[in-house]
Amino acid sequence: MDADGFRKAAHAAIEEIIAYNQDITKYSVLPSVKPGFLAPQLPQSAPEEPQPWGEIQADIASKIVPGLTHWQSPKFMAFFPAGVTYPSMLGELYSAAFTAPAFNWLCSPACTELETVVMDWLAQALGLPQEFLSSSASGGGGTIQGSASEAIVTCMVAARERYLHAKCDAEGLAPGSTERDDRIAHLRGRLVALSSDQAHSSTQKGALIAGTRYRSIATKLENQMALQASQLEATLAQCQAEGLEPYYITLNLGTTSTCAVDDFAGLAPVLRAHPNLWVHVDAAYAGAALICPEYSAKYSPLMKVADSFNMNMHKWLLVNFDASCLFVQNRNHLTRALSVSAAYYANKHTDSGLVTDYRDWQIPLGRRFRALKIWFVMRTYGLEGMRNHIRNSVRIGEVFADLVRSRSDLFELVTEPAFALTCFRVKPSLLGLESAADAEAEANAVSKHIGDLINERGEVFLTCSTSDGKSFIRVVSGNPNAEEKYVRAAFDAIVQTTEEVLASRDG
Ligand code: PLP
Repeated sequence: MDADGFRKAAHAAIEEIIAYNQDITKYSVLPSVKPGFLAPQLPQSAPEEPQPWGEIQADIASKIVPGLTHWQSPKFMAFFPAGVTYPSMLGELYSAAFTAPAFNWLCSPACTELETVVMDWLAQALGLPQEFLSSSASGGGGTIQGSASEAIVTCMVAARERYLHAKCDAEGLAPGSTERDDRIAHLRGRLVALSSDQAHSSTQKGALIAGTRYRSIATKLENQMALQASQLEATLAQCQAEGLEPYYITLNLGTTSTCAVDDFAGLAPVLRAHPNLWVHVDAAYAGAALICPEYSAKYSPLMKVADSFNMNMHKWLLVNFDASCLFVQNRNHLTRALSVSAAYYANKHTDSGLVTDYRDWQIPLGRRFRALKIWFVMRTYGLEGMRNHIRNSVRIGEVFADLVRSRSDLFELVTEPAFALTCFRVKPSLLGLESAADAEAEANAVSKHIGDLINERGEVFLTCSTSDGKSFIRVVSGNPNAEEKYVRAAFDAIVQTTEEVLASRDG
């Protein structure tokens, strides 16, 4: 494809993308295709001869769109949103054009330096403690990773190395000595990563990859699924009794199931008493809300207990996947754990110590120019525009929560609605069962059945989950295209389906 061909193809593609966005509500949010739908429509091998763009583009509408789940649809209320906006798409376009896997500063100085600037902008906009800024005395800073899972495992590796070396230093074992290596090999088998049972599965997976044990701490609905200091203290004591060495903990600011926020204020003294325990705050979704003073005033100062903090702009903050923003209070812990040198990386700028080489802050070597799309979004919306988006989502979420409350004859809230997420279920008392345990079990099964039926019908996409033994439906309105009329329509569909399911049980 030459420049002229690109011009024509790009215009046609952009027109099609705009039309897709404008027509998004005409699609059923979940596709009706069956597994294996695509391969029979495509040739078994790649074409030998070049094909014209028009022919390739035609397959988007006929073959790809029918198999899409429409995450940008305002009828998508499942999981957490993965929003995209036009300035973010433009950032992707330039990033593709400039493609440079900028692992070293030298590999594209603008890529590195813009990332440092926009991460500082973001840290300030979220009201994070100043230790997370690149200019801080503690040596902090932010970096953009592909996903929260990647950010978490990266921090776990840094935590593991920090813990092991601090312990060996305290025991007077000389760096590089056989005694130290043997001690590290022994200690590794005793290391345990912690989190509440509500932490996203990426914490467990991170421990698996980091090669350490993992222990989750049970939380309770009576505490809104938030981890409490007494629970952490009991777990730490238990670990000590078993000869285990807790080296890392994920705390949650907005869990996946219910958007629970761990009791940071209560946990802080316990954490301060264990300075070698790396504290990571996973705010993958709800962290976006900190851009509003009404949220940052409440939560951001509490982030001082954290060695590291991540939030995904690619969930609720108008930047498309991938843009997981990781902040640390001391970047030396990352670089000490992850820096491996090789002759082919050597250059005078790295040697000068004056530049950032982000390859030492992450697992992969190469990296995308993701700062561009963040820069474009922050400038196009302005912080005020970004706040308006969050506030609009929260307002629509409150409308939905009030609708649930208005039908207390049918539903009960499972936790207090938070961050545009409402978790609710069918009332156990409706189900005509004498034993409370039977009614609970039946409410779980019926709620899940209602959620599954709604998803099968494809008009709304929502998620079911279970916390502390209660299964429920969760509806989230953080999509950039969310509007009140869609959550009202979703609620009508939920009521109708619930009434049908209850009537079929009676019959
Ligand atoms: N943490 C939380 C709280 C999440 O909700 C999710 C995904 O929804 C993740 C982590 C993992 O996110 P990612 O897909 O960026 O790895």
